[in-house]
Amino acid sequence: MTVLGATGSIGTSTLDVIARHPERYRVHALTAHRSRDSLLALCRRHRPEVAVLAAEADAAWLRDQLREAGLTTEVRAGREALVEVAEAAEVDVVMAAIVGAAGLLPTLAAVRAGKRILLANKEALVMSGALFMDAVLRHGATLLPIDSEHNAIYQCLPPEHRGGLARHGVTQLLLTASGGPFRGWTLGDLAAVTPEQACAHPNWSMGRKISVDSATLMNKGLELIEACWLFDARPEQVQVVVHPQSVIHSMAAYSDGSVIAQLGNPDMRTPIAYGLAWPERIEAGVEALDLFAVARLDFEAPDETAFPCLRLAREAMAAGGTAPAVLNAANEVAVDAFLEGRLGFTGIGELVARVCEALPVEPADDLESILELDVRARRDARRWLSRE
Ligand code: NAD
Ligand code: MG
Repeated sequence: MTVLGATGSIGTSTLDVIARHPERYRVHALTAHRSRDSLLALCRRHRPEVAVLAAEADAAWLRDQLREAGLTTEVRAGREALVEVAEAAEVDVVMAAIVGAAGLLPTLAAVRAGKRILLANKEALVMSGALFMDAVLRHGATLLPIDSEHNAIYQCLPPEHRGGLARHGVTQLLLTASGGPFRGWTLGDLAAVTPEQACAHPNWSMGRKISVDSATLMNKGLELIEACWLFDARPEQVQVVVHPQSVIHSMAAYSDGSVIAQLGNPDMRTPIAYGLAWPERIEAGVEALDLFAVARLDFEAPDETAFPCLRLAREAMAAGGTAPAVLNAANEVAVDAFLEGRLGFTGIGELVARVCEALPVEPADDLESILELDVRARRDARRWLSRE
């Protein structure tokens, strides 16, 4: 298999699960952006045939280090190389765990090559939903959601759930949200939030971008869009339920009144192992759920006044076309600016709202239109930032 984004939070959890089952999985390629030291350590441990970094200078360094260590791993650099390892003939499973829009082209390449795609990189699907799902069908790819909520819903739906939820008696998808570190805070309280506070998630340990998205609830907004595409749902069929314990990972409600939920400890190795082994089950290194220790499960409605990003995402999905790609691009620029101290926490939602209002909604039938609006949204967002 290929692990795109191997040095990240999802990438390392994936390699942890794989290492428990050496007889089942073999690593063909590992990729990282700039973290060459981490990639070197992973290459020593997992001995891939190919390793990919963004810059040639980092690749040259890694090549030297690997040669010294007596390893024959081939090292490549650049975006083309990411696409190559995603579609390589030797590979049948691709873990898409790059963060953000940078993952779109390699993930789509894996889809078009008919691989089994373990999708963590939700931004890729948010940007290109219709095109992405169409390519999955057309090229006979197998798409397994790794995002814990979508993985849970996948487990709660009938095995063959294509063709609309109603056909299978499903009335609603209940997407659970921890509420992030600022659950219960008002818009006023949120103004002075720092990147360190935003990245300290109560239940999950994750990369910095998704941690900020969880704190603004944009993550739940992106997940709402993701659920619509994965399960052929309309935005109003997806109900966000704040559930602070993060034990129920999401649910499906049926017309006979049944609600089916998937529960477990908040550990991404569960959905990763599910995706790897599907339709079988394998050991993931995750502790068994102790319901007596959990003791209670709470539920509340999300606060869309303090956390406007959820509403913005729902509106973008309803607007259709390139609107979700614009939302995503504006959010990526805003989160970067927040992490670098150039934008306040509540400025993230404000900036996304401005960019979404300013840009037109175009049909998203081809990749060029999507990428063009992505570029325009980023340019617009940066222009707003430089004016502030
Ligand atoms: P992370 O920041 O920990 O890791 C990102 C990985 O992508 C790293 O290996 C990094 O080197 C690589 N990368 C970053 N920018 C890149 C670029 N421009 N080009 C090529 N590679 C690049 O992120 P993460 O938390 O592992 O999240 C990865 C994806 O999975 C995100 O889309 C996130 O939304 C999704 N996801 C994560 C979790 C979680 O628990 N961490 C849960 C659900 C979904
Ligand atoms: Mg999630």
